[in-house]
Amino acid sequence: MKVAFLGLGIMGRPMAANLAKAGHEVTVWNRTPGKEVEGARTAASPAEAAKGSEVVWICVSDTKAVENVLFGAQGVAESLASGMTVVDSSTIAPSATQKFADRLRPQGVRYVDAPVTGSKVAAEGGTLIFMVGGDEAVIDSLKPLFAAMGKKIFRMGETSKGHAAKLVMNLQIAMIYEGFAEALTLGAKLGVDAETLLPLINASMVKSGVVEYKAPFILKRDFTPNFPLRLMYKDLRLALEAAKEMRVKLPGLETVEEIYEIAAEDGQGDLDYAATLTLLEKWAGVEVKGAA
Ligand code: NAP
Repeated sequence: MKVAFLGLGIMGRPMAANLAKAGHEVTVWNRTPGKEVEGARTAASPAEAAKGSEVVWICVSDTKAVENVLFGAQGVAESLASGMTVVDSSTIAPSATQKFADRLRPQGVRYVDAPVTGSKVAAEGGTLIFMVGGDEAVIDSLKPLFAAMGKKIFRMGETSKGHAAKLVMNLQIAMIYEGFAEALTLGAKLGVDAETLLPLINASMVKSGVVEYKAPFILKRDFTPNFPLRLMYKDLRLALEAAKEMRVKLPGLETVEEIYEIAAEDGQGDLDYAATLTLLEKWAGVEVKGAA
């Protein structure tokens, strides 16, 4: 298929590379020039990338960035063709997705929201999990592209429901990680190190994918970003905004969001969200270590 891929960050670049590797005709664009993808053509603007493409796939930071790519100067909207499909794998506000889709529909453009879970490792390995909102037939037509980048797609309902599901997922990831980080901090203070605690966690009902993924990085004290803290903070704010719109009270999430706010103010925004552990350590006056 002819695909324009817009946004070559931690996630977008390997996703586009996997599309090219699978034999699709890929044109890439990134706001800051200089990023390229092997086997893909590089365009100078979203409009140029989108011209003649069957599918425009977006993976940029936030709601404003998606709006910019679609409707800003030299945006996708300047090269729309009836029958084109726009797919958004960024994590943004579901209400904004609905508005973008409504704006493009009169021109015959189909809109699918397909945010991902799986982080950098899964983006590189082509094993992402997509949660997808949109018309069933349109989603079916995208199957070869989903297959090149991921291992599973979950259909969440109409356009914008993928983004709704993504906020609900990240709410849980942040809160599970916070529980893990608080447990490790108190454990360290009480004299039980992380490496001793982990086999117990993994043998019990506390076991989780979040713990499994993050523990090796914590033991190495490697906080280079797989999923940058600033982006998780953005997602928690989006979840709280959605909760406010829906008049839902989420007191646990409000507390966790404050921790991200302090961590971001502390200059940790570009580290992995696992670095929120270091705030707890600072407050407790302890450092979580492996047994060695
Ligand atoms: P990233 O590495 O920070 O990359 C962000 C991308 O967005 C870059 O290509 C950046 O361009 C572009 N961008 C930012 N603002 C823009 C604007 N105003 N106009 C056009 N382009 C703009 O982020 P990422 O980790 O790839 O994440 C991308 C999306 O996937 C986010 O919504 C994130 O929440 C979501 N996500 C990430 C992960 C993860 O583990 N990393 C997992 C699931 C979902 P420049 O190069 O010019 O800055």
